[in-house]
Amino acid sequence: MAHRITWLETGHSFQADGEEAVLSAARRSDVPFAYDCRSGGCGTCRVRIVEGSVRYDDELPMGLSEEEAAAGQALLCQARACSDLVVSADPPDLGAPPQRLLALVQSVEPLCGDVTRLCLELPVEPDFRFRPGQYMNVHLPDGGHRSFSMASCPDGANVDFHIRRIPGGRFTDGDLTQLQAGDALEVELPLGSFCLHPQDYRPIVMLATGTGLAPLKSMLDSLKGDEDCPPIHLYWGARTEADLYLDAEIRSWGAGLYEFHYVPVLSRAGADWQGRRGHVQQAVIEDLADQLGDCAFYLCGSPAMIADAKTTLVEHGADAAFFYSDSFLFQREIVDLVTTG
Ligand SMILES: Cc1cc2nc3c(=O)[nH]c(=O)nc-3n(C[C@H](O)[C@H](O)[C@H](O)COP(=O)(O)OP(=O)(O)OC[C@H]3O[C@@H](n4cnc5c(N)ncnc54)[C@H](O)[C@@H]3O)c2cc1C
Repeated sequence: MAHRITWLETGHSFQADGEEAVLSAARRSDVPFAYDCRSGGCGTCRVRIVEGSVRYDDELPMGLSEEEAAAGQALLCQARACSDLVVSADPPDLGAPPQRLLALVQSVEPLCGDVTRLCLELPVEPDFRFRPGQYMNVHLPDGGHRSFSMASCPDGANVDFHIRRIPGGRFTDGDLTQLQAGDALEVELPLGSFCLHPQDYRPIVMLATGTGLAPLKSMLDSLKGDEDCPPIHLYWGARTEADLYLDAEIRSWGAGLYEFHYVPVLSRAGADWQGRRGHVQQAVIEDLADQLGDCAFYLCGSPAMIADAKTTLVEHGADAAFFYSDSFLFQREIVDLVTTG
């Protein structure tokens, strides 16, 4: 049965069959909702249901917690309309449109045992801009692609990436290990809608695991010297001290930010470690229990951390409407989710 879907902010209106994902119907009608993975993992197509109801084929998609669904949020790439709907979402402002380019490798250097810093020079106009938090796709000769988030602030043609080696990975354990300065890499950017939401006017709590730090670093770089910068807490999770590949540098960031608290958290710390142990979400709850309802949360890295953090932080008083996240899924997992979803 067909239902009418109306986008509150833009007035777009279109028909969706009750059996198809609302996003599929929107794309057919050229309605420009933001989306990325189309597999329910990234949360980019999140909306608030103002009127009507939706269902999902199986359980809730990975990028939507029970609490978020209960608060009226939905992921359009997986949601099926059960009735006419009115949905609310800010129209996407994704900065520059994505371009497919041949980038020049500037440098490839180790940051720690399994993380590489890749610096690319892009053949773009001097005013080329991406939004801190966005990512690029590296296109592989076999037609596939791999996603990596920009780790630096938009500034001219050079861009940094932090890339973790995945044992057996086609790119991170293969092509990347052969790359040298001067090599060309086919890339597409900027992509994604993970970005700062300054209109929230809330203290920011950032949670990262591993190289999930990369897009948060880009955001933090962009906030340095900003007079309207809110207080920021950064919780960075890793296994061991050796994995905290930017620890010393991060400790200096407070100088450029209005109020900055940095807490590294190790899950497999050695006996000498004097800092926090466990998981980032637990450390946030221990430190900020009485303020969670006032904060905005930016989460990036392992899908398991993101899913667990959303659930437990909301249980402890955080507002599900102020969660922004980017899950570092493997490309294979995204393909699996799209084909089975
Ligand atoms: C939006 C986004 C941004 C990201 N940003 C970053 C970033 O900034 N930094 C970062 O480090 N990572 C990032 N990631 C994660 C990164 O994209 C993945 O780690 C990357 O795709 C791995 O590519 P690979 O070619 O090395 O591994 P792949 O070849 O994709 O393999 C990954 C793993 O799966 C196994 N595998 C592959 N195919 C199969 C199969 N058919 N069956 C079973 N196992 C299989 C491999 O052996 C390996 O262990 C991001 C992901 C997303 C979605």
